Amino acid sequence: MEKSVLDALLVPLACPQKVSADEWRALFQAFQGDVKELIFERARKTALHSFGNRIYLRALIEISSYCRNNCRYCGLRSANPLAVRYRLCKDEILGCCDRAADAGFNTFVLQGGEDPLQGDEWLADVVASIKQRYPDKAVTLSVGERTLHGYELLRNTGADRFLLRHETADAWHYSHLHPERMSLENRMRCLYDLKRLGYQVGAGMMIGSPGQEVEHLVKDLMFLDELQPHMIGVGPFIPAKGTPFANEPAGSVDDTLVVIALLRLRFPNALIPATTALATLCSDGTERAVLAGANVVMPNVTPPAVRNKYAIYDNKKSWGSESVEQLAMLSDKLDKMGYVIDFGRGDYDEGG
Ligand code: SAH
Ligand code: SF4
Repeated sequence: MEKSVLDALLVPLACPQKVSADEWRALFQAFQGDVKELIFERARKTALHSFGNRIYLRALIEISSYCRNNCRYCGLRSANPLAVRYRLCKDEILGCCDRAADAGFNTFVLQGGEDPLQGDEWLADVVASIKQRYPDKAVTLSVGERTLHGYELLRNTGADRFLLRHETADAWHYSHLHPERMSLENRMRCLYDLKRLGYQVGAGMMIGSPGQEVEHLVKDLMFLDELQPHMIGVGPFIPAKGTPFANEPAGSVDDTLVVIALLRLRFPNALIPATTALATLCSDGTERAVLAGANVVMPNVTPPAVRNKYAIYDNKKSWGSESVEQLAMLSDKLDKMGYVIDFGRGDYDEGG
C-alpha cells in the first residue's frame, strides 16, 4: 500500500469527530500483511510523543481465584471443576504491597474473581489499610461488577482506578460469552458509574474470543470512542481447561497487535498494557506490544505459593519477565529496544 493511501485511512483517527463504522471497517481490512509494520511504526511514534521512551509498571496482586460468576471463557468460572481456589487475606495482600513497594512500584493492582467473601466492605477495609501505609501510591481494583454503592464506598476509601473490560460491545456476542444472569447493559452501567465516581477507568476486550467477528470489533472501538476510558486492555483469548470454550482456538497475536496500534492512534494518551495473555502466546509478546504502541507492563507480585492457581486461561505466564522476581530481565529487554522502566504512578494525563 502507498504511504499516501495509508495516511488517508488514518486521518479519521486523529480527528475529534467520532470514527464511523465504515472507517473502522476499512482500517481493519487494510491492515493485513506488510502494511501492519507501517501502522505499528505510526503507533509507536504516537506513544513516544505522548510518553517518551518510558514504560509504566504496575504490581499485579491476584487476590482470589474464587468467583461467583460463570463467564464461559474464564478458567475461574464457578462451574469449572478443574479450577484450584485460594484467597489472600488482608495481611497477605499488605505483604504483597510491601514487596512491591520495596521493588519500587507506585501502583498496586488488586485483581480477582467476584469472591463473595471479598465483598465491598471487606475490600474497602483492605484499600484503606493500603492507603494508610502508602498514601502516595495508586490503588487499582479489578474485581468485577459491583453496585454503585459498592464502587462509591471503594472510591471513598481511596481506590484510584478500576479495570473492568467491557469484553464485547455487541449484545449477541456478550450473551454468547456470558451466562444469562449477566448483561451488556449492566456492564455498561458499571463502567459509566465508575467514570462518574472519578475513577480512572479501564475497559477493553479479548481478541479472537469465540464468536467474535470484525463487526463486533467495530462496535468495540465505537463504544470505546463513546466511553473515553483512561486505560484500555486488549489481549488474545486463550482457551482454559474445564470451560465450555476449552477446545476453541486462541486469538491471533498479530490481530491483537493491530488493535493495540489502532487504539494508540485513536487514544494517544491512554494507558495501554502489554498484556500477560500476549506474553503467554509468544515469548516476545511484551516487546512486540510496546513496538505497536503499548506503554504499561504489569509484573506479577502474587505470593509464589498460589501464583499458578490464578489460572484464568491455560499456561498463563506469571514468572520470568512477567514477575517481580525478574524485573532486571524486563528492564534488559526494554533497554535493548531503547525503552526504560518508569516507576512513577503513571496517572492518566490528557496531555497537550
Ligand atoms: N473478575 C474480574 C477480573 C479478573 S478476569 C473481571 O472479570 O473483570 C480479568 C480479565 O481476564 C477479564 O476481563 C478477561 O478479559 C480476561 N480473561 C478471562 N478469561 C480469559 C481467557 N480465557 N483468555 C484471555 N483473557 C481472559
Ligand atoms: Fe469471574 Fe472475571 Fe473470570 Fe468472569 S472473567 S468468571 S467475573 S474471574
